[in-house]
Formats: sequence, C-alpha cells, structure tokens
Amino acid sequence: MSDHPEIWLEPKCAEDNHPEGRQWCQDDVFSKCPECGEPATRYIRADIVESERQRTSDLIEEVKMVLGPFAKAFDELSEWSDLGEMNTYDDLAGAHALLSRLEER
Ligand SMILES: [Zn+2]
Repeated sequence: MSDHPEIWLEPKCAEDNHPEGRQWCQDDVFSKCPECGEPATRYIRADIVESERQRTSDLIEEVKMVLGPFAKAFDELSEWSDLGEMNTYDDLAGAHALLSRLEER
C-alpha cells in the first residue's frame, strides 16, 4: 500500500490543543478554527502533483498543435490569400477530439 495521496493538517492555531502538536488525517475531518476561522491545510503528494502538472503541460502542447492551423488560417484570411491549402476537415476533427478530452477533465 502506498502513502496517502493527500493529507489534511488541522488549523495551525489548534496546535496548542494537543501535547503532541498539530494533528493530521487522511480525510478532511478538521473544523475551521472557531476563533479566527483558519481552515485545515491540504497537502497533496508531490508525485501526484507532478504527474498532473505534466498531463496539463502535454494538453497545452496539444492545444497549440490543434489550434495552430486555425491561427494560420486566420492569418491567411486576413491577408486575402489563397485558402486552397487548408485541411479544414482534419483541423475541425482535431478541435472536436481536443474539446472532448477537455470536457472529460
Ligand atoms: Zn485560530
């Protein structure tokens, strides 16, 4: 069994309530501090954060790749040049597939 994907640390000002210091739990069980309203702190395992960061970075690269032809088409349209080289069907299919992936997130 691997470590918890995330843990919660009780509000910092609650640490005086326990001789062993601030408490933590794998679930969000701590109430906000009744005096100052400070919430619990959520920590997420670094490897999970890095994996999500990489996934987002990959998605951004794909967005650039898929939307590139549209930006190029815009440039060509604004210059009133020949649009014969546009591959509109593939570009639209790529945009559709990308939007589907984004909607799954
Ligand atoms: Zn407090």
